[in-house]
Amino acid sequence: MNAIIISIGEELTTGQTVNTNSAYLARRLAERGIRTLEHCTVSDERAPVAAAIARAAESAEIVLVSGGLGPTEDDLTRHALADVLGTELLLDPKRLAHLEEWFRARGRAMADSNRVQAMVPRGAEAIDNRMGTAPGLAAVVKSAKVFIMPGVPSEMKVMYDEQIAPLLGEGAGAIAFKIVHTYGAGESDLGARIADLMRRGANPLVGTTVAAGLVSVRIEAHDRVPARAREMAAEMAAEVRRRLGELVVGEDEETLASVVGALLRKAGATLATAESCTGGMIGEMITGVSGSSEYYLGGVIAYDNRVKQELLGVGEAMLREHGAVSEPVAAAMAEGCRKRFASDWAIGVTGVAGPTGGTADKPVGLVYVALAGKGGTEVIRSQFPGTRDVIRVRASLMGLNMLRRKLL
Ligand code: ATP
Ligand code: MG
Repeated sequence: MNAIIISIGEELTTGQTVNTNSAYLARRLAERGIRTLEHCTVSDERAPVAAAIARAAESAEIVLVSGGLGPTEDDLTRHALADVLGTELLLDPKRLAHLEEWFRARGRAMADSNRVQAMVPRGAEAIDNRMGTAPGLAAVVKSAKVFIMPGVPSEMKVMYDEQIAPLLGEGAGAIAFKIVHTYGAGESDLGARIADLMRRGANPLVGTTVAAGLVSVRIEAHDRVPARAREMAAEMAAEVRRRLGELVVGEDEETLASVVGALLRKAGATLATAESCTGGMIGEMITGVSGSSEYYLGGVIAYDNRVKQELLGVGEAMLREHGAVSEPVAAAMAEGCRKRFASDWAIGVTGVAGPTGGTADKPVGLVYVALAGKGGTEVIRSQFPGTRDVIRVRASLMGLNMLRRKLL
């Protein structure tokens, strides 16, 4: 079975938006054993969109389209589908009622322009959009199944996963993906420990990638039967985990913050944060996980020394003697935070994120991360390379990982 993916939008053809929809869809198709023959990106123009759909329907069994279903003048995908089908757009009263209800439930008046979203080409069917206003569309063109989804990635994903994927069936020759995330070892170090699993051309294929401070092991298993491919990928992930032990943070969608959150919940423990150079980034990572209110109490962005003193109880003499970026201050921040929030754990971070502000004895990238708990306080001194952003992310991950190790 094969497919062509069409992405629609001026913002894509001009390079203002990176096309993440097509990558997502291609990956999902591969998992079902459906081969993507081609990715095609078209700007918001009726005739080129219609031509792209018609051409794709001649060469592939499945055509997945995203974008241009909005209520504005430049959203012409439904018109283009009508052109391909040689029919006209009809107002679907049920869709219109649904749309009006959507706005009513949110206490908003529906603009007249939204009516177009209740228009369905004769010969096509609407697909419910539980995440937004634009319904999707399904039609058969030649013998190809054509599905049109909204461009907004969150809407597209839910519509594809819940309503379109189940209609596609499975092809022969699937690829299953699995990712194992690690923290604490460099890429080459990690590679050496799983070198024998990383042979070129092997199945499953194993490789490493680095992103946002984590080194991840990517696994790609090929098999004629999709279920078997998934099994092979899962088996390899288990083997990688066995080899890498505590370096392994989690798999696939898991992040350091989600894993730490799960461990805190399991332990019935709470966390608070005192952040200087990371400016709340650890709090942001933690609260990005749904349900974090169960274990995260809050934090202090203690940027200025006065805040370190007044809100965290760091001594003035200590700040004068050692400077804000120092081991004792990091420890005092974490301990003061733990006490004030009455939390089981507290993370304190202080460092020089740069690019300015470095000195000979406190260079850019110098970061102290402290973890305070019932059993005492641990401080790690790191010298991170990289830009301001990279240093801040690394410092945040360091704090989360220190806690993860303690909770294991
Ligand atoms: P809407 O109802 O929101 O108007 P739409 O179907 O018209 O939906 P677009 O206007 O094309 O969608 O895009 C909406 C948003 O989704 C834009 O911010 C756009 O940048 C983003 N987007 C659209 N297509 C893609 C894509 N292929 N990859 C990533 N982002 C995309
Ligand atoms: Mg658009």
